[in-house]
Amino acid sequence: MIRRRGALFVVSAPSGAGKTTLCRETRQRLPDLAYSVSYTTRPPRPGEKDGSDFCFVSAQEFQALRARGEFAEWAQVHGNLYGTRASVLQAALDGGQDILLDIDTQGAAQLRRRYPEAVLVFIVAPSMSELEQRLRERRSDAEKEIMRRLDRAREEIATWRSYDYLVVNRDVDDAVNQLTAIILAERARTSRLGLTLPDLELPSKEAHD
Ligand code: 5GP
Repeated sequence: MIRRRGALFVVSAPSGAGKTTLCRETRQRLPDLAYSVSYTTRPPRPGEKDGSDFCFVSAQEFQALRARGEFAEWAQVHGNLYGTRASVLQAALDGGQDILLDIDTQGAAQLRRRYPEAVLVFIVAPSMSELEQRLRERRSDAEKEIMRRLDRAREEIATWRSYDYLVVNRDVDDAVNQLTAIILAERARTSRLGLTLPDLELPSKEAHD
């Protein structure tokens, strides 16, 4: 029998790199992968559902949760507060369920410290000019906002070496294949597994260390 602890898959990317689409498509391919719904003080965008895209809370509610130590990580991004509920992560890990998090680089660094075995994946657009073009195609942002996002993208890209994997999003299908492959390979890591066969005595991982 194989027992496996749940794993945390943390995905970060500068805005415009296509992370939301990649995460959504990867979750469709791997329906047993749970998703960590973040808390945010940002107002909902059209079509976003409270409780499944984000838990939308007021600044006061966010501060109260933070003061009670309910967040495994939190950060201010583009002027809004975002946080991951610690109890949700712990329940997934304890229940042997893998969980995907779409969070920024500050949050990823905090989670790395708290859960050293977390798998960190960074997604980039093929070039800065491509990223700029994608941000402009959205047309939802004013020029000043686009420049602000590009500056922040440069800062975020500078942290890529602290991630375990890098996915270059040239083509959505290729990038989804890559992200799915990373998750499947990490699931098979022996360090995450406990194997017991009734007719075979196997040393535990601890016996090797
Ligand atoms: P958006 O509001 O555009 O969906 O997300 C803005 C940024 O906040 C993205 O980089 C996203 O990954 C990040 N983000 C979303 N949820 C969280 C969270 O719970 N914690 C942190 N640190 N960042 C988050």
